[in-house]
Amino acid sequence: MHNNSIPFNRPYMTGKELEYIAQAHLNGILAGDGPFTKKCHRWLEKTIGTKKALLTHSCTAALEMVAILARIQPGDEIIMPSFTFVSTANAFVLRGGVPVFVDIRRDTLNIDENKIEAAITKKTRAIIAVHYAGVGCEMNSIMEIATRHNLLVIEDAAQGIMSTYYDQPLGSIGHFGTLSFHETKNIMCGEGGALLINDEQYIERADIIREKGTNRCQFHRGQVDKYTWHDIGSSFLPGELIAAFLWAQMEAAEMITQIRINLWNNYHQYLAHLDYKGLVKRPTILNNTQHNAHIYYILVPTIQDRTAIIKWLSDRNINAVFHYVPLHSSPAGTRYGRASGDLSITENISDRLLRLPLWPELKLSQIESVVDAVEKYFSN
Ligand SMILES: *Cc1c(COP(=O)(O)O)cnc(C)c1O
Repeated sequence: MHNNSIPFNRPYMTGKELEYIAQAHLNGILAGDGPFTKKCHRWLEKTIGTKKALLTHSCTAALEMVAILARIQPGDEIIMPSFTFVSTANAFVLRGGVPVFVDIRRDTLNIDENKIEAAITKKTRAIIAVHYAGVGCEMNSIMEIATRHNLLVIEDAAQGIMSTYYDQPLGSIGHFGTLSFHETKNIMCGEGGALLINDEQYIERADIIREKGTNRCQFHRGQVDKYTWHDIGSSFLPGELIAAFLWAQMEAAEMITQIRINLWNNYHQYLAHLDYKGLVKRPTILNNTQHNAHIYYILVPTIQDRTAIIKWLSDRNINAVFHYVPLHSSPAGTRYGRASGDLSITENISDRLLRLPLWPELKLSQIESVVDAVEKYFSN
């Protein structure tokens, strides 16, 4: 990599990770659910205000656990945005569920709560609220619709740790929340995730599903004298070395979030004049949400512009990327799911969105270089 290059992401280490891994090594407990995992669980329960937090090896795994806990049967429909990562849909398709894709809002890029009800049928079981870029979905409306139709609400808060909606932490509002600690997320351990359970009736079964379908957790708590096979399940928990690494990040979560917000605000100020000129559109943050600066993106006029800007930035050693390819028109999305109504905003945004480099050790001068390069593209 070029010396002056600006990568899209650089995982941030607090400096405590190796110390805690060494401590786990010394403890001699390396399988899951050891002392570091318990510290992480308690921190999540306290910070997010969830009834039960369980570390998993990914957000994907947490979503797969939700599909099992919700007893999704073949043909059951799950409403979700098309503008999301594949795991949101895949976890339910694995149980025979049918993703029903709904368009997003033009401002927050979150599922359009006003288009959810038209997608509900007799087979609908759940609504998934994906908090894009750590900005809260309209949870009040979504919860109200779900209550009226007796549906489960799952918050895919993979990007939403430390964000709030009307002062409620994301992941604490629906029946379930899922988090990701993938290297690209704000708080990370390489690969990792968590399931948040806000409805107590699911807690006991979650412990069993996460431990290969056995009641090993009850055995370890001394509640039963032997453990055996009780339900379907898999190995969804991470080992202690991962939890030790993650604990270092959780301790610094507040600081990491604040640093990211400062950088995000710098981009936002520096890009304001391009927005006023109508050349780019910056993210919209509504007053009801405090976001965590997970992503800084701009919307450029056309897909041709986006392709050209990525090349323009790359020629200046700046790595900018885009996502998502809409799920409703993807090969698997057309096979396993269906679109509800028109998804033109999803298609339009997916062509025009560009993510700019954002990571805690990014320097102000590097942000200036990125903004300068974007400005030069438009003045050319
Ligand atoms: C990152 C992400 C996931 C997947 O997380 P993993 O921990 O990599 O499995 C799922 N949903 C959304 C919205 C994400 O951003």
